Amino acid sequence: MPSGRTHDRITLLSLPPLAVVVYILTGRGEWLLWFTGAYLFSGLMFGPDLDIYSLQYKRWGMIRWIWLPYQSCLKHRSFFSHGLMVGTVIRVIYLLTIVVILAIFIVAIAQLIWGFNWNWRKVAENSFDVLKSQYLGEAIVTFIGLELSAMSHSLSDYLVSYFKRSQPKQSNRTLKKKVRSKASKKRKK
Ligand SMILES: [Zn+2]
Repeated sequence: MPSGRTHDRITLLSLPPLAVVVYILTGRGEWLLWFTGAYLFSGLMFGPDLDIYSLQYKRWGMIRWIWLPYQSCLKHRSFFSHGLMVGTVIRVIYLLTIVVILAIFIVAIAQLIWGFNWNWRKVAENSFDVLKSQYLGEAIVTFIGLELSAMSHSLSDYLVSYFKRSQPKQSNRTLKKKVRSKASKKRKK
């Protein structure tokens, strides 16, 4: 499979043409920004290779440990990390779960100190309503950015391993051809 640096290059080179397409299709500068941010985020640190000790994983720095359970649950290049749509959906749910767990922990401590009222159900409902009514377009464009970047990753992984697999077969075939032509020349003599 390609190295982390090669994946980075693919991400950076494929972004400009895709950004042009997104801008032509949507005609909205702010959606283009969400798309670009999501595409880069997914390509550089939120991609399928978070399932191993990779460049993407290392870029999470001090908090990279949050991906350790993810790595221990998934085999490298499994369908659940590299699969179409599934990989991105699982990573988004996984990251949201971690954020919610951290938020619950932080709010609980803050409540202990300042003793205020907090209703998680209301907060969740309000957040969902706001997302649905005001930021649905941004959410969709962001998800498309995340997914397209992950797809370019999985596709390049697949192409490189396909190419590597077909290499020895080809040379075997050419070797056999050479042997056969030598043998027929000998026969003619
Ligand atoms: Zn990969």
